[in-house]
Amino acid sequence: MNKVFFSFDIEDYFMANCFDQQLKRSQWLGFESKIEYSFQILLDLLEKKNIKATLFFLGFIGKSHPKLVKIAHAKGHEIASHGYHHELVYNLSPNQFDEDIKKSTNILEDLIGEKILGYRSPSFSLDINDFRYTDILEKYGIKYDSSAFPNRFKSKSKINTKKPFFISDNLMEIPLSSEKLFGINFPLGGAYFRLYTKGLNRLLFRRYIEKNNLIFYLHPWELLNSHPFYPKNQYLRFKHTYNIGDNCKKKFLSIREFNTGLMREFLS
Ligand SMILES: [Zn+2]
Repeated sequence: MNKVFFSFDIEDYFMANCFDQQLKRSQWLGFESKIEYSFQILLDLLEKKNIKATLFFLGFIGKSHPKLVKIAHAKGHEIASHGYHHELVYNLSPNQFDEDIKKSTNILEDLIGEKILGYRSPSFSLDINDFRYTDILEKYGIKYDSSAFPNRFKSKSKINTKKPFFISDNLMEIPLSSEKLFGINFPLGGAYFRLYTKGLNRLLFRRYIEKNNLIFYLHPWELLNSHPFYPKNQYLRFKHTYNIGDNCKKKFLSIREFNTGLMREFLS
């Protein structure tokens, strides 16, 4: 029977790439953090729905808030990597990407005392056909990547399969989910999930899972009712904040009960 694999990219609200033009990473520690608060909301929601999820932690969060990684691990969630600094991969040279992955996996592995098996690039920015980058994931022991997003606007990896597949002998790709309805592609998760009505989300989930395992994604900052500050660009601001907080929580709670799993299960 197909399952829903709930995944969350663990980062603070101002670390999203919509702030890249506005903020420098060297300023991150100076901003009002909401990660502990938003992460607790997320843990409570998962507990309420009895879901064990895959959490793609930024290495930066692992360093600044190690407790969150340890708590999540102790609760049985899977700890995976979202890189260190949330840089778009296509803006990094292979050497810079190597540094980012090394730093992130080292920090997270030290915290949980286990190998990190999964990786998701910031804003799905890894091109999975570029072996200069995917080889680096393998070098640090990553066994699966989840960055390819079929039919997503601006997706870097052009693929049209919904099933996990091997990029190389040792690296699996687990694509995000997108369901076609009336000839239109509806990605499942994030800003799309917040934009759709409860009914539409339920319909998309039901249709998708009839044929495939569903990979869903969201961020803890999408569960906050407001953020201390916002992207200056109006479109980015809308995309970053539309229906966040209680609206998003209600939608999440209204998802029907499905069998769920951790993404590392795909490896066995
Ligand atoms: Zn992210």
